[in-house]
Amino acid sequence: MKQTITTYQYNFITQQVNDLTSAYLSVNDLQVRLAIRAKVLEQVTPLLPSDEPNTQLFLTGLETDRLSRKSAAQLLELLVPMVEPFPLLSAKQLSKLFRKVKKLKQPEWYGLKRYELTYLGWNDGGNQKKYLVAPYEDRLIGIQGELAPETVKGVCAICQTIGNVALFLSTTKSSGLGTYTKKGNYICRDSNQCNRQLTDPQALADFLTIVQPQRKNRK
Ligand SMILES: [Zn+2]
Repeated sequence: MKQTITTYQYNFITQQVNDLTSAYLSVNDLQVRLAIRAKVLEQVTPLLPSDEPNTQLFLTGLETDRLSRKSAAQLLELLVPMVEPFPLLSAKQLSKLFRKVKKLKQPEWYGLKRYELTYLGWNDGGNQKKYLVAPYEDRLIGIQGELAPETVKGVCAICQTIGNVALFLSTTKSSGLGTYTKKGNYICRDSNQCNRQLTDPQALADFLTIVQPQRKNRK
């Protein structure tokens, strides 16, 4: 099966399907339910490869009126093999992305759903640090910073969703001069939850443009 669905598209589809099952629980009017379902199908169908049997199974399954949450979860499983997951990185690859960090705490790969991850983020709670690995201009970059221990309700700079966010202070070396500047953004404390809420990669790209280490001669 070709992996043509991006992780953020998969998360968008999941959100749409979850909204649909929620609507089924509260809407008694059949015509309204049909209209909501038509809208969801209109949104998700263009994101799916039309020539894959799993796409057909998924779309046929969605036709079920009053689809249960359990059945919806099973349908979403059909899409997973078609999602291009976040790459599994070795400790060596990660250390190259964080050259200055001694004894880099490793992400807990076990249990991570890489098909949900547009970026990788993990906390080193003991040192109040957060590490991010994200695609930027066709390569992966590593971003590190201090993560405030306090969690507040607010909008995350990466997923643009209201949730439990914490101030992330990234340390950025200004080009050439050897000076460091700190840039603060409120982002989700739980990066896996953040990824599940990330359905549009634009805010992530904007965030990375702000926090990434500056390179010389950038245009
Ligand atoms: Zn977030």
